[in-house]
Amino acid sequence: MALAVIVGVGGLGCPVAVSLADAGVDLRLVDDDVVELSNLQRQVLFRTADVGRDKVLVAARRLAERYPDLTIETRRARLDQAEAESLLGGADVVIDATDDPGARFIINDWALAHGVPAVIGGVHRFQGMVLAHAGRGPCLRCLFEEEGPALETCAQGGVLGAMAGLVGHLQAERALQILGGATLAATGFVTTLDGLAGRVRHVPLPDGCERCSGGRRALAA
Ligand SMILES: [Zn+2]
Repeated sequence: MALAVIVGVGGLGCPVAVSLADAGVDLRLVDDDVVELSNLQRQVLFRTADVGRDKVLVAARRLAERYPDLTIETRRARLDQAEAESLLGGADVVIDATDDPGARFIINDWALAHGVPAVIGGVHRFQGMVLAHAGRGPCLRCLFEEEGPALETCAQGGVLGAMAGLVGHLQAERALQILGGATLAATGFVTTLDGLAGRVRHVPLPDGCERCSGGRRALAA
């Protein structure tokens, strides 16, 4: 059975987890947060009575009620460089559901280094994006060379719950495409979703940064 590691069990991680569990994928949930009242509008695995409890434990219990045959591991931890191997090791696909630029690059780079597919997602107000790689380029760094200045957090800027749901389910769908072997259909581009304009675009990624092409582009120049 395939194992998906979902980093972040919030507005993106909840729909990702439900969709992957629906498809019979074993899960490892990674998050160090507790449920807050303001989360409930978009974090569909949690209820009012869960406020103050560990997200990974509540989510795992709720998923286990519905999918008793799945293996659902929990790690109450925040992803950083030092912990990447112990938290992500063994994954068949890693899902970035953190909405944290730092964690997003750690996931991108760890997955490239280990040849493991990664599905990266982001959502901010009415905008969303999904980018997948199959353990090789093109990757997130082909689009953004490095972590930019911190954007507003969800708490500051706000996130439309429906946008988080759209992006999270799309991330799960991309992961299932890759696990099912339809890698070419799922990688090589970034999908942007504009909830106000009602527009979805698939934009091809440039040809490979130094990180994912092993410096091939630099050598060719
Ligand atoms: Zn790259």
